[in-house]
Amino acid sequence: MTAKSARISSAPEPGRARVFVGLGANLGDARATLAAALDELRALAGAGAWRASSAWRSAPVDAGGPDFRNAVAGFDTALAPHALLDALQAIELRFGRERPYRNAPRTLDLDLLLYGVQGDDGGLAQADERLELPHPRAHLRAFVLEPLAELWPDGTIPGRGRVAALLAGVRAAGGQRIERLSD
Ligand code: ADP
Ligand code: MG
Repeated sequence: MTAKSARISSAPEPGRARVFVGLGANLGDARATLAAALDELRALAGAGAWRASSAWRSAPVDAGGPDFRNAVAGFDTALAPHALLDALQAIELRFGRERPYRNAPRTLDLDLLLYGVQGDDGGLAQADERLELPHPRAHLRAFVLEPLAELWPDGTIPGRGRVAALLAGVRAAGGQRIERLSD
């Protein structure tokens, strides 16, 4: 698939919000976990718009264990932000997520990166004890920015800058090993 055809386009239907969710797995069969989690997210999207990035392999950042398998999904949902976070955490739990300590290796991590995206605008900026939008570390992570740029290359993360510029900065800084996978 070319980068162009991977792009998510057209506005969400009324009553729906466009979101981007980051997926990561580095324990067990990460390939199978990521594929199954993408299916679950797609079910959340229902008949609305849906795009998934390529799969990427990345070195753990501030975390232990084997390499991660990462992807980003962009889709439209009728769920409000906290209800969507609930749904993402329920999916994590179904895949056996445990939180023994911060940044522990995990079977599945689902992060709500952006909510209420409109065109190139990254939508909601808000923070409470459960949910911060945009996700507070999305703009720093190659494993978010590389797949996000496939789907939304002209996008801007509120308060952080353009995805393309953030990605260029992370690439130039080096130190985050990542490669796109062909399957
Ligand atoms: P991380 O993804 O940073 O490694 P966790 O997945 O364990 O860490 O998330 C820790 C907490 O982050 C969750 O309990 C959740 O309430 C909170 N959180 C805040 N903002 C977000 C967000 N945008 N997406 C996902 N979780 C978030
Ligand atoms: Mg998380």
